[in-house]
Amino acid sequence: MPERTEAETNMGQSEVLFERARQVIPGGVNSPVRAFGSVGLVPRFIARAQGDRIVDTDGREYIDFIGSWGPMILGHAHPAVLESVEKAARDGLSFGAATEREVEMAELICSMVKDLDMVRMVNSGTEAVMSAVRAARGFTGRSKLIKFSGCYHGHSDAMLVKAGSGVLTQGIPGSAGVPDGCSKDTLTANYNDLDSVSNLFEANPGEIAAVIVEPVGANMGVVLPEEGFLEGLRTLCTEHGSLLIFDEVITGFRLAPGGAQEYYGITADLVTYGKIIGGGMPVGAYGGRKEIMEMVAPAGPVYQAGTLSGNPVAMAAGLAQLKLLRDTDGFYETLNRTGNAFFEELDAILTQEGVPHCLNHIGSLGCVFFTGETVRDYETANTSNTTRFADYFVHMLDRGIYLAPSQFEAMFLSSAHTEEDLERTLDAARDYFRKDYRGDD
Ligand SMILES: *Cc1c(COP(=O)(O)O)cnc(C)c1O
Repeated sequence: MPERTEAETNMGQSEVLFERARQVIPGGVNSPVRAFGSVGLVPRFIARAQGDRIVDTDGREYIDFIGSWGPMILGHAHPAVLESVEKAARDGLSFGAATEREVEMAELICSMVKDLDMVRMVNSGTEAVMSAVRAARGFTGRSKLIKFSGCYHGHSDAMLVKAGSGVLTQGIPGSAGVPDGCSKDTLTANYNDLDSVSNLFEANPGEIAAVIVEPVGANMGVVLPEEGFLEGLRTLCTEHGSLLIFDEVITGFRLAPGGAQEYYGITADLVTYGKIIGGGMPVGAYGGRKEIMEMVAPAGPVYQAGTLSGNPVAMAAGLAQLKLLRDTDGFYETLNRTGNAFFEELDAILTQEGVPHCLNHIGSLGCVFFTGETVRDYETANTSNTTRFADYFVHMLDRGIYLAPSQFEAMFLSSAHTEEDLERTLDAARDYFRKDYRGDD
């Protein structure tokens, strides 16, 4: 194994900050995956970022493939987004009252997403999902939900059942502190397995309010929906009078302007957004057909509220980012083409070096699993060699490449990733996977 002077022995300011953080913040972080627990390193404390580069508190610069877990699709600190935020901030940070920007934002989202009549802004993806589920239950008058093992829908009680992302990284089945009463109505099916879904429908006739799915699984690594899977869910939901909820917190405005719905040509009944729509600010949203969304208070009986919802500065960031995505000619074609070429090249390197792997990718999202199996669900994702992943992660970090510190997260490309930086990333990967460098197998 190579020496690792940077990543393992010289952690500098980050180590000092992490020590301080651990005294006053649980685990030293405000969201678990950030702790670098599964790769056995001290997390890098980030000072600033620009374009595709992120800089830690020791002044080390990395090519960033996290992009704040998705929001930074235009790269960090995009001038147009910053300008919009600065302008809004000067007018006041929050009013707790209706504003024009909220109307503009809702109009913009509804114009970019086909068949979306109404949308409600919230402050996170978690809140968006929690609220969409409540609306679905209110609309159908039913209680039960079907979700998929390995899909992550935020940390609300009902969703912490066989969840992905940090829950999966921690290697725990769910979470302590969730009463049975909150999770007993959450039924789990297997991703890409329509039979597992129809079995649940048959066992619970007339009781399923909704099926919630990540149309592309992006919280157990990246897992693509197989041909017919999403269509099958659509059909099953319609047949059984249940609502189909697409959790597009990652895929929304990433795969296409209209998200996975547009990409796959499927219309869900309710959709949740987060990440990209906030442009880096804490924003979430849920929306759907008018008859469903008009269940939400004050139009209807399903209560949902938020002191800071539709915050003017957050709306300014989201509006600026979404407008750029909408108005930049060929934005998605270019980004998706760049993503495909990059991941195909990475795949070719792994194949050439004889590394057992499965590289799942779509557009600007991708993930390398260290397994000989085809990764198509939670179970197969779990066959990946996470020790190998951790070793790869450390090597890449040493080389100035900042990947998500967990096997079960995606790599996110942005329009700010330069050809040169993508080449550098491939070179670093090539060096790692060269057998003589790895010194094993
Ligand atoms: C990130 C994520 C969430 C939760 O969003 P937060 O803003 O972290 O609360 C929900 N669903 C999916 C698919 C996500 O990727």
